[in-house]
Amino acid sequence: MAKMKLCKRCANPSTRPNVYIDDEGVCGVCRLMEQNQSGNIDWQARQHEINEIAQWGIDNTRNSYDCIVTVSGGKDSMRQAFFARDELGLNPLLVSAVYPPEELHDRGAENLANLIDHGFDCISISLNPQIFKKLMQLCFQRYSNIFNASEMALYAIPIHTAIAYHIPLVFLGENPAHTIGEKHGKLDGDASQMRNSNTLLGGKADIFLDAGFSPQDLHFYNYPPHEDVEFANLRLVYLGYYIQDWSGWNNAEFSIDRGLRVRNDPPEFTGDLWGFTGLDEDFRLVNQQIKYAKFGFGHVTDQVMEKIHDGSLSREEGLELVRKYDGKCHPKFVKKLCDYLDLPEAEFWRVVNAARDRDIWKQNENGEWELIVEY
Ligand SMILES: [Zn+2]
Repeated sequence: MAKMKLCKRCANPSTRPNVYIDDEGVCGVCRLMEQNQSGNIDWQARQHEINEIAQWGIDNTRNSYDCIVTVSGGKDSMRQAFFARDELGLNPLLVSAVYPPEELHDRGAENLANLIDHGFDCISISLNPQIFKKLMQLCFQRYSNIFNASEMALYAIPIHTAIAYHIPLVFLGENPAHTIGEKHGKLDGDASQMRNSNTLLGGKADIFLDAGFSPQDLHFYNYPPHEDVEFANLRLVYLGYYIQDWSGWNNAEFSIDRGLRVRNDPPEFTGDLWGFTGLDEDFRLVNQQIKYAKFGFGHVTDQVMEKIHDGSLSREEGLELVRKYDGKCHPKFVKKLCDYLDLPEAEFWRVVNAARDRDIWKQNENGEWELIVEY
């Protein structure tokens, strides 16, 4: 029996860390969709709830800003910033963690500038590029994931900012329980458990201290201590939960209309069907390829799942796209990453192949890796 199975209704893989798939082979996202389709979502109640949360933000801030919106300049952050300001009537402070110059793509800088240009104040925090790079080198070798440390910083920085500026209401994008079926997540708009999510390793960057980093080096990578979060009375909310037509696709349409610049490379180069995700840098494309080796799925699976769930793609059509494009990444991106990390490409592939899950991959007579998956 294959270790890797796909949800019988969409394409959600059983190899996804923390995924929930029930005895009938149906994933948590599909079960939630079932509830949605039977009209169980009371959008009026959610509207009421988010209005109350907005008012809570206004009442509890000790600053001119009512809330913080974490932004990269991409589609989801644009959607959130506009929603907070124009639908909820809040005065948001945008907070952005900027990639080091060597990693940041021009497109990313332009997209953030474009968002701000729509009339927002934004605080950008740039991390020491040398430490950033060393952490990426370490995470690649240790976890075969180049983004563990930087994702910790992306999540921790808005929390640090909220505490420092006394703005207790913090908006995040989507609840991973809804889009990818994370089993630990709460199903509502409350994001207070975010620090426990899979990518954050508990938010404790101190795990890198043993590799020669100092606590100062890791300040913005460490999620602020629980007592600081409590004392600051922070309220973390997934805004996506309250936006009825929230989806990657819809957010992209919304943002492209407002000047978002997207990626033009074809999906066979990028493992990305539509080119509007992760626009601010290119290493993510390589990380998706690494993830594909480790878990047997990449970004195309996530994209296809969204389209199967909204009914615009059949499962069969989706699987076709997954087989064709998932895990694809042009060698130029791998080279760019290896140059950045000062890593020989042979060493890159050694680490990736060592991390490859042998229960889901087998090598054919030509030495190529083939995925064993039960559709
Ligand atoms: Zn499913």
